Amino acid sequence: MIEDSRKVATNPASGQQRPQDSQDASTGSDDVGAGGLLPRLNHMAGRRVPFRTATLGLDQPVLSVTFDDFPQSAFDPGARILDDHGVRGTFYAASGLFGQTNSRWTVAGADKVAALHARGHEIGLHGHAHKPANRMRTAAFAADLAANRAALRRIVPGLTRENYAFPYGLCGLMQKRHLAATVRTCRSVQPGVNAGRMDLDFIKAVEVSVRGLTADNLESWLDAAEAAKGWLVLFTHDVCDAPSPYGTTQKVLARVVARALERRFAVLPVDAALDRAGIA
Ligand SMILES: [Zn+2]
Repeated sequence: MIEDSRKVATNPASGQQRPQDSQDASTGSDDVGAGGLLPRLNHMAGRRVPFRTATLGLDQPVLSVTFDDFPQSAFDPGARILDDHGVRGTFYAASGLFGQTNSRWTVAGADKVAALHARGHEIGLHGHAHKPANRMRTAAFAADLAANRAALRRIVPGLTRENYAFPYGLCGLMQKRHLAATVRTCRSVQPGVNAGRMDLDFIKAVEVSVRGLTADNLESWLDAAEAAKGWLVLFTHDVCDAPSPYGTTQKVLARVVARALERRFAVLPVDAALDRAGIA
């Protein structure tokens, strides 16, 4: 269910942050490991080879808040916190997980996808079965992506040009090439601020979690995005008082949004951020 992000993104100014898409040991039954040498090499090749690039053209820093999988608590209180601040987020939905309960949370159902879309939030693709791209043959990956898209389009008729997030942050070379021809963009779990020329199929994103973006390093990340006039993309999972290692609290999420707005960031879903940046 969760992203394969084991490394802490500390302070962007410290130079200490490390990639969050490393493939080391799993920590629980829901985790997926690297799956051997070939998938590992496939991921490494995929993340290094850009098939589409674009240059961000922003006149003010932009923040996007995204949710993966997504648990019930991302819907409420997660989306509600965004609504309360007058902003919208992006929800990457793995349609095969709808309503399923794992050791950490219960995934929201199709009704929540429809409700979020009706409230102006963006619905993105996250694979139907939520399998790591680098461990699927390209044809199976394409079929799973098509199933995800079809399921979401049944719920939200008229959905087009969807954005995608890699389950577990894991990509693959041919899988990424397929995505480049199929979706608007792909989001990784590689921490950093997007600025200047960027790989549209490996958008950097920082996890809002105890080992990623927290109340303590929030301002540093906002500083980095502001200095670069860049695009800071965040992702998280559950939103509750006692979140999983992959989620955050209501308090932190509300503070992230409030501070970004106070600092005059545009807070936009991924599709609107791309529009704002002049990326077709
Ligand atoms: Zn996921």
